[in-house]
Amino acid sequence: MSVVGFIGVGNMGGPMAVNLIKAGHSVKAFDLSSAAVEKVVEQGATAVGSAAEAAFDSDVVITMLPAGTHVRSVYENEVFGHGREGALFIDCSTIDVETSRDVHASAEEKGFLMVDAPVSGGIMGAAAGTLTFMCGGSDAAFDLAKPFLDQMGSTIVHTGGPGNGQAAKICNNMMLGIQMISVCEAFNLAEKLGLDAQKLFDVSSTASGQCWSLTTYCPVPGPVETSPANRDYTPGFSAAMMVKDLNLAQGAAHSFGANTPMGEKAAALYEDFCKSGSEGVDFSGIIKMLK
Ligand code: NAD
Repeated sequence: MSVVGFIGVGNMGGPMAVNLIKAGHSVKAFDLSSAAVEKVVEQGATAVGSAAEAAFDSDVVITMLPAGTHVRSVYENEVFGHGREGALFIDCSTIDVETSRDVHASAEEKGFLMVDAPVSGGIMGAAAGTLTFMCGGSDAAFDLAKPFLDQMGSTIVHTGGPGNGQAAKICNNMMLGIQMISVCEAFNLAEKLGLDAQKLFDVSSTASGQCWSLTTYCPVPGPVETSPANRDYTPGFSAAMMVKDLNLAQGAAHSFGANTPMGEKAAALYEDFCKSGSEGVDFSGIIKMLK
């Protein structure tokens, strides 16, 4: 069993750290929020006073932080200077591809192995240990990281070199944002046409309009019992999170010269939805604004 330094034990990092403790690892937890640390200490983690202390002498350092600026500063100012020789770094945060690649390059320069491993599956997947990890990094880094990721997730995919975990995450979520809007628009049009929502679902869920936003996460109440539409759009996956990911996709599209007009429109619509006070609403709730 290993010593894991876990930096960022919030909504996602907390339950992920707990799954590592359950698997028998010794977890040193650091977060700027003492309440977040307290929760994982109750489950068997040891609290440490800084990210540097979490990194010191740990076999593996895992970060689960809000954005690229936090990731860059935590690695550059604390982890790199205190990580032990041969330590493995796994950044599970969702951040921009360029920052991720920069941090990878610095890690490599200093002789550390690193994987970017953003996740899909939300806080329920984090608690259940069923997250999907999209992993960027060398074969050697991925092979070392996989046993740890297996203890926090059920699908672990090596998506390529440094930053390619982030690339997979933002491409996937750009598809998701666009598809959700398309499904919402179709249900709104159906209503105007006098077409019952369940009938549209019965047809499209097995026809060419089929997609996850329809069959697993249907934005109208009724057809899919577990979708947030049946609990007044309680997240789930908040509109604010969707804006974050769509904006990361737009940033990457501009930097790398990809044409993504639907992604751009989806980002703008979700921005409007958030500005109307719906940041904390599930992203499928955009159906109400579109109506
Ligand atoms: P969160 O705000 O609950 O947790 C982030 C934690 O990082 C907070 O507890 C915060 O105090 C801590 N933090 C910030 N800066 C720090 C620093 N310098 N040192 C130590 N701790 C610091 O957010 P979350 O929902 O757990 O999301 C974390 C990451 O996971 C984000 O990148 C998010 O995009 C991604 N993500 C979230 C979800 C979700 O459903 N919540 C799903 C997939 C991916």
